[in-house]
Amino acid sequence: MAVFGIFGTETANVASSVYYGLYALQHRGQASSGIVVNDDGVFHVYKDSGLVNEVFTPNVLNALGLGQIAVGNVRYGTADTKDRINAEPIVVNHSKGKMAISLDGKLVNGAELKREMELQGSIFHTGNDAEIISAVIIKERISSASIEEAVCKAVDKLKGAYSLLVMSPQKLIAVRDLRGMHPLCYGQRADGEYVVASESCALNSVGATLVRDIRPGEIMVFSKEGIRSIDEHCGKGEEHLCVFEYLYTARPDSIIADCSVHLARKRAGAVLAAAHPVEADVVIGAPDSGIDAAIGYAEASGIPYGLGLIKNKYIGRTFIDPGQNVREDKVRIKLNPVRETIKDKRVILVDDSIVRGTTCIRVVKLLRDAGAKEIHIRSSAPEFLNPCYYGTDIGSKAELIACKYTAQEMAKLFGADSVGFLPLKDVCKLAESGTCKGYCTACFSGDYPTEIPQNTGVNKYDCKISENKN
Ligand code: AMP
Repeated sequence: MAVFGIFGTETANVASSVYYGLYALQHRGQASSGIVVNDDGVFHVYKDSGLVNEVFTPNVLNALGLGQIAVGNVRYGTADTKDRINAEPIVVNHSKGKMAISLDGKLVNGAELKREMELQGSIFHTGNDAEIISAVIIKERISSASIEEAVCKAVDKLKGAYSLLVMSPQKLIAVRDLRGMHPLCYGQRADGEYVVASESCALNSVGATLVRDIRPGEIMVFSKEGIRSIDEHCGKGEEHLCVFEYLYTARPDSIIADCSVHLARKRAGAVLAAAHPVEADVVIGAPDSGIDAAIGYAEASGIPYGLGLIKNKYIGRTFIDPGQNVREDKVRIKLNPVRETIKDKRVILVDDSIVRGTTCIRVVKLLRDAGAKEIHIRSSAPEFLNPCYYGTDIGSKAELIACKYTAQEMAKLFGADSVGFLPLKDVCKLAESGTCKGYCTACFSGDYPTEIPQNTGVNKYDCKISENKN
């Protein structure tokens, strides 16, 4: 999931800026996309299932018109919230005006808050946490002098991971949860407009320069009066940035907590080379997110890096699935080995993670068919042993292959010669050159920084309305 917002004082084509910002953040969510443009307090909204360029055709973008402030969102769909009705931003009218909300994250007390408000008569239309957060803010807004005061009070009630953008008729407000579990940063364009985004790569895509990360617990208010930082929640929680951002989620050209994601991944490769050395002829990376760590592994081990697998970049959601019985063809269409790099070689394949093991099984077969003599799989993330409750799509223990098999057993299952994982003790050292003070490693270590939901968070009555696009 990703958020993007822009604040200016002049009327401009803010919709197009958000479009390009979301485009740069597409890797964080492919299920739905949405933009809300604020033109002097009038909100124009469009959101739908699909990738940014599928949802926002030139006509749709033009129809959003000009404005001074805008927010956008891309989200991935979990099984219970992938319908169109869950697309964000959420726009609500309330007793003191209106508000748009865009969220990256997941509450651990979402089900609890929702139930409490439902028992008081609130009605919810979606299964997503942005709507719950909007209801909490609106409730606080009744007794607050300003929207930021309401947001401030809401933060005391929200538990979990949330990087949030709130747009009111006059303001853009950026909020990061007390532990700073997901990234959020802001920058500025030469013409003065402020831009807030989940990752710095999106700032660059609209010509903005990164100013800094929003701090854990910080509330930043962008208004005609300038920027105001409300820091009364800062320091109330220990920093726990999701370490998987550095390993997989973020784009390698992003900077998080003053550390380049690319360099952190290269460092993971180097640590992996020291922890699981093996004699080999070539190191290759599983495209795309395994490549940086493969380069790091190659540099540290002295084994040459080679271009071993090519991914077809043009396979989107519209890709016609050839069906179960031709599954192998499907893999070959998406991924093709470069025979010249592989044939008769002892290959080290570096991937960013092994979740269910599906990718490894398929890729090992591709490499064997291309003539690899030996295949050694190295994962630049430790073993996934626990579900994530904070918005990363890591499933239940039953789905996680490391819960069932040892590395040796996995190698046998995949048809590989060996499998090695990044040691858990090293995972927090990858971004040491940055300013982050602590990480969430729960999916690897089981050490959750918050209470965890006692149920799945899914209300059995949550509606799953599949709306017609027309
Ligand atoms: P698997 O094939 O189930 O073992 O998953 C591992 C592959 O999925 C790796 O190549 C990753 O790049 C990718 N991956 C890792 N985490 C996620 C995630 N949360 N959502 C989608 N893909 C992921």
